[in-house]
Amino acid sequence: MQFKDIPGQNQIAGYLKEMANHNRLGHTLLFLSNEGSGALSLALAFAQYLVCEKRNFHQTPVSSSLFGEDILPAINPGELPADSCGECPSCIRAQQFIHPDIHFSYPVITKKSATKTISALYAKEWREFLNTTPYGNVFDWLQKIEVENQQGKITADECMDIIRKFSLKSFENGLKILILWMPEYLSKEGNILLKLIEEPPPDTLFILVSESVDLILPTIVSRCQLIKIPAIENEALIDTIVEKQEVSREMASQAVAISAGNYREAIQILRDTEEDWQTVLSNWLNFAIKARLSDQVKWIEEMNKLGREKQKQFLRYFLHLAEISMRIHIVGPQNITATQKEIDFSKRLIKVASMEQMEAIASELNNAIYFIERNANAKLLFHALTIKLYHIIHQKTLILTS
Ligand SMILES: [Zn+2]
Repeated sequence: MQFKDIPGQNQIAGYLKEMANHNRLGHTLLFLSNEGSGALSLALAFAQYLVCEKRNFHQTPVSSSLFGEDILPAINPGELPADSCGECPSCIRAQQFIHPDIHFSYPVITKKSATKTISALYAKEWREFLNTTPYGNVFDWLQKIEVENQQGKITADECMDIIRKFSLKSFENGLKILILWMPEYLSKEGNILLKLIEEPPPDTLFILVSESVDLILPTIVSRCQLIKIPAIENEALIDTIVEKQEVSREMASQAVAISAGNYREAIQILRDTEEDWQTVLSNWLNFAIKARLSDQVKWIEEMNKLGREKQKQFLRYFLHLAEISMRIHIVGPQNITATQKEIDFSKRLIKVASMEQMEAIASELNNAIYFIERNANAKLLFHALTIKLYHIIHQKTLILTS
């Protein structure tokens, strides 16, 4: 994996490279991000960057001083390559996830046939997962190893194996790296690692890749250098999805808006949605505003059939368009980043609802998403919401409360 393959994370990639090139890296980094932001991809690209022979050529000591400290050639860190070369033997092995100095730990379950439960038992599946689903979550991974109904774990055996591996010298006489994916699955076994993390052997780097800092042992978190990975920038994610999933810009933009920049979820949405939410929404608004009761009932029946996930997607998409129209109210349509179709639709929304009305609608949508997530009865919820829309748009006093 190279940095250039990762959409929308140039800023954090630049920060990582700068830290490495100015020797400001701690021994243990904790990459923290929301699902689908690309933290694992960044860890892979960063590890490859650090082992790339082209980069290390610039950093090879020219001689050793009397006191045993290496003298690095006088080189401006700005001249170091901006990415791994992708071609040297180190890069090629890193790209295949078989570099002898880049190790991986990840949650697994016990295999009946094995005496020890270590991550490496699933190395083949892991490499496939990294190749095909680097934005996947733990559920995707457990599905990949066909144990999605069991709880994965990074076991005590695995921790002992990490300690063993890191007591050995590196193969390439350079850095030894551990990418530990999902330290939240370490449970208290993780404490075995504390001494290693606190006093690591020289030239060791641990990269912990997590989605939930609250679930990691506090003893581990306190020993890490925290690196927050932001969500992927929307425009970059839309570009990537258009290119990789071969969908229209409108579809990509809709999926990115609904998923709030979560690459994994955006792909999922595209996979199981043929819905054109704009059409669904304009029908609903029409039926609601004009009080076409029998059409409303039919529309709600259809919506009810779609299931909770899609209902949530629909509401989030409506919320996204409501936010665009509020921004148009404030800064005008020229300064909005959205597709033309979204802007056109949002402009039509402005014609039926003022800024205050739009705020009221947005607040109702947020409530509805909250209740759908908590298993509210969808039929009742959409009935109530239809009536609320009618009242908000016709500026009548609300009778119904949630
Ligand atoms: Zn290279």
